Amino acid sequence: MKAIIIGGGIVGLSSALYLHRSGWEVTVIDRNDLNDNCSYGNAGYVCPSHFVPLATPGIIKQGFKWMWNSKSPFYVQPRLSKSLIDWGLLFMKSATPEKVKAAAIPLRDIGLLSQQAYVSWQSIPGIEMAYEHKGLMEYFQTPEKEEHAHHFCADARKLGLEAELLSYEQVQALEPQTRLNIKGALWFKCDAHVYPNKVMSSLRQHLLANGVFIRPNEEVTGFDKKAGTISHVRTTKGVYEADKIVLAAGSWSRELAAQLDTRLPMVGGRGYSVTLEDSPNKLNHPAVLMEGRVALTPMDGNKIRFGGTMEITSLNGFRPCSADGLPYIGRSSRYKNLLFATGHAMVGMSLGAGTGQLISELVNEEKPSMDLRPFDPERFN
Ligand SMILES: Cc1cc2nc3c(=O)[nH]c(=O)nc-3n(C[C@H](O)[C@H](O)[C@H](O)COP(=O)(O)OP(=O)(O)OC[C@H]3O[C@@H](n4cnc5c(N)ncnc54)[C@H](O)[C@@H]3O)c2cc1C
Repeated sequence: MKAIIIGGGIVGLSSALYLHRSGWEVTVIDRNDLNDNCSYGNAGYVCPSHFVPLATPGIIKQGFKWMWNSKSPFYVQPRLSKSLIDWGLLFMKSATPEKVKAAAIPLRDIGLLSQQAYVSWQSIPGIEMAYEHKGLMEYFQTPEKEEHAHHFCADARKLGLEAELLSYEQVQALEPQTRLNIKGALWFKCDAHVYPNKVMSSLRQHLLANGVFIRPNEEVTGFDKKAGTISHVRTTKGVYEADKIVLAAGSWSRELAAQLDTRLPMVGGRGYSVTLEDSPNKLNHPAVLMEGRVALTPMDGNKIRFGGTMEITSLNGFRPCSADGLPYIGRSSRYKNLLFATGHAMVGMSLGAGTGQLISELVNEEKPSMDLRPFDPERFN
């Protein structure tokens, strides 16, 4: 049985891993060389603590102040685009306290499932991740963010996640090599991190060595459809037939989905990261600066990666942001051999391994490890 995966980011490669291990002949097609997509440049958090989706009442309030300033952490590039307006309206509609509350359990569950999946990858020969389970600190400097941290800590504990509030002195004792200008931190002990470049390149090598076909520099351009199935996938270099097709094309998935009669509201959320290979500044634990919205991850020995900003932009964006902050994972109701695996926004690395596992369960007609209804790819149709 043959499966085609469109997109070789973490979601596509992870789906390839699980499908191949369950006996499928797998081909991954990517329009780039697979050496530098969003899944390489991220902060590497594997974070069940991220149970709050992107669409919240807070981001709407703060976003209106920030969105016109290109130097702010949440900037919306002004442009008249039907897809941006469509996404923006749905985003605002999704940003209610009720919807944020309803998203917490599914996001926690897929976060924990994915973390377990990464733990299991550690014993797969050839896959290297620099996986470390040290938690994630959220540093705060102001009384407002301190209060927010108190609430967030209580919410996390209610969900059964290990979280602790630390005073300035406690954080400084854990980070003796760096002088910190903070009031304290919320320490999500439940979180882990990886070095994304290592995960991506070793996973790709592992797949190639085990007989998965990887087609770089080949763009999927269209589909032939017949009687409720996709009969062919058309690319810039050829035509493919497959029993199952997984659309995992990151922030470009919306256009491909539209060709398949499916509305997948999505925008690209561009971010930036810089990695110091041999950092003179030492941190023991990954951290987010709450006021500055900057992520700092010490990774793979002596490296530190700085990442940040969310620039809602045109197609050339990178984080695949769904309209409600929840991923699109599931089967198509229109084409019986099509599945969607995209829209993971700020947590695609974290949820990548678990998404691959879930896609394999769906393809193989097994009972999924969790309730997938909140991630229904057709929820906005
Ligand atoms: C600065 C920054 C920090 C981040 N930090 C974190 C973090 O700490 N933890 C976390 O979980 N997430 C983080 N993220 C988000 C995370 O990187 C993304 O959610 C994740 O990489 C998305 O993976 P993906 O596989 O869906 O998409 P991608 O990695 O974008 O892969 C999609 C692939 O599809 C290919 N493609 C597109 N169209 C076609 C086509 N027509 N034909 C063939 N191929 C096509 C593309 O070339 C691309 O290679 C961060 C992102 C940024 C920008």
